[in-house]
Amino acid sequence: MNTIQEQPSAIRSYYEALAKGKLLAVTCKACGKHTFPPTGCCEHCGSWDVEEADLSGEATLLFATHNLTPACHPRFESMAPYVYGHLKLKEGPIFQAIILGIEPKPAALRELFERGPVPAKAETLQTDDLPVLAFRIAG
Ligand SMILES: [Zn+2]
Repeated sequence: MNTIQEQPSAIRSYYEALAKGKLLAVTCKACGKHTFPPTGCCEHCGSWDVEEADLSGEATLLFATHNLTPACHPRFESMAPYVYGHLKLKEGPIFQAIILGIEPKPAALRELFERGPVPAKAETLQTDDLPVLAFRIAG
């Protein structure tokens, strides 16, 4: 399964939305929480009664580091070196993504660490195959 057309529907919907600059999750009708990235069931209570939901793309960067060994795929190898971080979305989910707006160098990462949690906004990186989610922080 290497193209968007070959992915199961929740994953395909996620990538189609991301290609348009939108962040797609699912909201659970049982507990009301969001699952991101979207799957067929709620990651909080296990219910299969979920529906697609657009997220704001607003997040807080909690922690970041440089990525000396990028994810094992040419789309990431061509981006390296890059900064990778843990983010908490405004809607609640915590996950990891590429961070834009900072150089992958020790001094810049130390300065970012000393600033503490900073706001970040979702951005789509277009690659030859799938779009990649990244978050940009203000400089
Ligand atoms: Zn739930």
